[in-house]
Amino acid sequence: MKLTVIVPCYNEEAALHYFYAEIEKVMQNMQEVEFELLFVNDGSKDQTLEVIRELAAKDERVKYVSFSRNFGKEAAIYAGLEHSTGDLTAIMDADLQDPPALLPEMYKAITEEGYDSVATRRVSRKGEPPIRSFFARMFYRLMKRISKADIVDGARDYRLMSRPFVDALLEMSEYNRFSKGLFGWVGFRTKWLEYENIERVAGETKWSFWKLFLYSIDGIVAFSTMPLSLAALLGVVMCLVAALAIVFIVVRQVLYGGSAFGWPSMVCITIFLGGIQLLCMGILGSYLAKTYLEVKKRPIYICKETNTRRKNRMEIENE
Ligand code: UDP
Ligand code: MG
Repeated sequence: MKLTVIVPCYNEEAALHYFYAEIEKVMQNMQEVEFELLFVNDGSKDQTLEVIRELAAKDERVKYVSFSRNFGKEAAIYAGLEHSTGDLTAIMDADLQDPPALLPEMYKAITEEGYDSVATRRVSRKGEPPIRSFFARMFYRLMKRISKADIVDGARDYRLMSRPFVDALLEMSEYNRFSKGLFGWVGFRTKWLEYENIERVAGETKWSFWKLFLYSIDGIVAFSTMPLSLAALLGVVMCLVAALAIVFIVVRQVLYGGSAFGWPSMVCITIFLGGIQLLCMGILGSYLAKTYLEVKKRPIYICKETNTRRKNRMEIENE
């Protein structure tokens, strides 16, 4: 049985040595498994690639793919899945927030208990800024309501997956990737493990509040068309309100006459409706923008250097 561990790395020079030491211990304890450590260097600006090259020189299980620039964690995960040669594939952060020590338990769930994938979620958000936790919770609550993809609060990207699961993910070669949604969308039997939040071992988080906010919009646009329906619904409601107002004004004119007052309210209504129109156009625009990026069919990442290679369709079919 071969197990590939995908590690997306962006400016992780400080964390990589700790990570390698930790995973080394786990690999020692799982002698029956053949390991492949697949580091994806996501255009790091520090010495990450050099550190990975050093590891690769002394340990032949270490493989890497290095991007031409920073493409984001989602692209790094996709590249990892494409290059993974294992029967099982795990995705793990480089900062030890995804404890490698859980691997044996995850491995057992797939090989002995018959699950297709084992996912993890953190049950606390200790050590995180409170505003961030608040918005994260709101996001998950909203997603639950407006999307069919089953996106779990606190879910991490830390997962172990069987080959069919990985192949299903690779079938989805969309450009706007939101893995937490994709994992749920493909189905299969998934076991959930829970653990307390762990703070990163070294270096800094790569996610600013703004980046997270934009990412959440990506997630909504990728997995729900509810905002479009809401825009349409809003239009209908506004028409109804206008119809009632017309009836009211006509009746008042007939009964009492003289309706040439009310300019301030008129201005308010005009501005209000203008605002709603712009909002709805904005919603439409964000879907259109994603469609635009999608039809261009640009590659999800560009590989600049690697010591492994992607299997092509022919090879996979011939196996
Ligand atoms: N990461 C990446 N590309 C990016 C940002 C992050 O490959 O553009 C990697 C990063 O090196 C780490 C993982 O994604 O291994 C999670 O990032 P981070 O720990 O900064 O996120 P957090 O745990 O704070 O959500
Ligand atoms: Mg982290």
